[in-house]
Amino acid sequence: MIQISQQRDKCIGCNYCVEIAPERWRMSKKDGKSVLLEAREKKGFHTVNVHDMEHLENVAAAEACPVNIIHVKKLK
Ligand code: SF4
Repeated sequence: MIQISQQRDKCIGCNYCVEIAPERWRMSKKDGKSVLLEAREKKGFHTVNVHDMEHLENVAAAEACPVNIIHVKKLK
């Protein structure tokens, strides 16, 4: 498993994560920020645990994010 997190309030809505990892990210029409699908929110951090299969594309999304608010880590 991997854990993906997003510090959503700092999202500038550039759409990169949605383009790179469309199975895990969507743009919100309400506030123009991206949504980490199936994530839970706690103190401004949206977090979800997913299968390793999603690792590469979400690491790429994290690297592309211009405000560096996406983080991916491996879980045991
Ligand atoms: S790449 Fe970063 S700033 Fe751009 S939409 Fe995704 S989370 Fe927001």
